[in-house]
Order: sequence, then C-alpha cells, then structure tokens
Amino acid sequence: MSEHSHSHGDHSHGDDAGHDHPHRSRPTSGDDPLPGVQHVILVMSGKGGVGKSTTATNLAMALSKRGFRTGLLDADIYGPSIPTMLGVTGRPVSTDGKTIAPLERFGIKLMSIGFLLDDPKSAVIWRGPMLHGALQQFLKDVAWGDLDYLVLDLPPGTGDVALSLAQRTSVTGAVIVTTPQNVATDDVFKSVSMCTKVDIPVLGVVENMSWFIDSAGVKHELFGAGGGQAIADFAKAPLLVQIPIDQNVREWGDKGTPIVQAMPESTVAAA
Ligand code: ADP
Repeated sequence: MSEHSHSHGDHSHGDDAGHDHPHRSRPTSGDDPLPGVQHVILVMSGKGGVGKSTTATNLAMALSKRGFRTGLLDADIYGPSIPTMLGVTGRPVSTDGKTIAPLERFGIKLMSIGFLLDDPKSAVIWRGPMLHGALQQFLKDVAWGDLDYLVLDLPPGTGDVALSLAQRTSVTGAVIVTTPQNVATDDVFKSVSMCTKVDIPVLGVVENMSWFIDSAGVKHELFGAGGGQAIADFAKAPLLVQIPIDQNVREWGDKGTPIVQAMPESTVAAA
C-alpha cells in the first residue's frame, strides 16, 4: 500500500511537485469523455468581442508557464480566433484513425473547431443541437492525454452549451468575461444563472476593456464602470481582474504571440 493518496491522479512529470492545486480534481465517471483531465475550466461571456478568447488563451499560457500540463479547446465556432492568437496553422491529424492529435504551441495542447471546418463561414448557420454534438465529439475524439487543466473557450451567449457539457462531464468551474458596460452584462447574467442551475461554480469574473489610459496618463472609462463587479456580486464570485484597453493586447494577439508570452512583465500580462 502506498502512503500517498492518489486523489490528484498520477503526476509523473517532475515540475509539478511544488504546486498546490487550487481546486480538487474533478470526479470522473466511467463514461467521462476526458478521463485524463484533472480540471475543466470554461471561459464564457454574454456577447462576442469582449475578450473571451484573449482571456482563455492567456489563462492557458499562464497555467502552462506555472508548469501545469495544459490544453486549450477553442469551441467558439462563431469566431474561432485562438489559432490566430497562438500563431498556429495547419490541420490536426489522426495517427490511429480513431482519435485526433491536438496541435501544440508554447507547450499547450491546442484544438480548435476552426481546424476542422472546410469553410469557416459554414459554422455560423449551425444550430444548438449540432453545436452540442460537435463539442461532445470534440472532447471525446481529441487525444488530450493527461492534463492538469483543459481550458474551454465557449461560444458567446450560449449558457446552454455549458449546460449540455455539464450533463456529460463534470466541470471544475467557469470564468466569466465581461466589459464594464450594461449591454454586455445583460447577457452575461444569463450565463451565470445557467452555471448556477447546473452547479458549475463560477471561479471568478474578468472585466476586460475596463479603461484606457491616454498618453497624458488620464484614465478614460470608455465603456462605463461597474459591470464586472455587478456580475461578480450576482455570481457570488470574486472579480479577479480589471484589464485596461491596451494596444499591445490586440497587436500581440494578431501576431500570434499572446501578451503573457510576449511581454510577461507588463501589467496587462500580470493581470
Ligand atoms: P471574444 O473572444 O470575446 O470574441 P477576443 O478575445 O477575440 O474576444 O477579442 C476581440 C478583439 O479585441 C481581439 O482583436 C483582441 O486582440 C482585442 N482585445 C481583447 N482584449 C483587449 C484589451 N484589453 N486591449 C486591447 N485589445 C483587446
């Protein structure tokens, strides 16, 4: 008998020992599509364009830099932007005819629904059931292997994707991304309600594009204020961070190197 409990699974890689896991591993049932994955984190938003993919990408980068084995699934069929943000092109291949090998970049295992679309525009007409089906298939058929964290970038405004996911696999928690303005927050309340309904803990709220600091150092709250805190209060979760609008975030994102990788010492990256 070993004196160790194996509740965190078997971490054979050497650099894990110094890390404490912030959350307990997911309980997995026999038919769980992700048997080798310790933590599944959903990144959700009410609307598109609020920085959800940027958050998901940089979160995955940050976890990977801390030595966690990390995967990133871009399930945002309406705008699969993660391949661009990480500078990945090419198609994943299947070596055994059954599972698809994820691509890899900066040590992160990466899969995007965009890799599999012949015509990226065709996905836009997908309706709920097709989307749910594709996502389940994706989780099951991708050879993720053993991971500490799998970060899922979900399509915007679809709390129901989280719901169908939660029915099939146990989810560690969700990170909600919003901007400070009210129009964005209306939808985001629905995502939070959906999480609560299916017992997905809201780990925290990220408020993006909170303000802009001009060259004279003056702070402008372009999209209003208070949205992130309001969502956090509603979700009874912490407001993790307020990220200012920073040209570098967009520029590095477009160039295929996320800010956490390109400018690790900058304040936006620390956020
Ligand atoms: P979503 O996934 O919510 O649609 P994205 O993460 O794709 O949003 O972000 C939309 C665009 O805004 C991208 O071009 C991204 O680089 C840019 N962006 C996101 N956050 C910031 C920020 N804090 N400052 C500047 N540009 C940002």
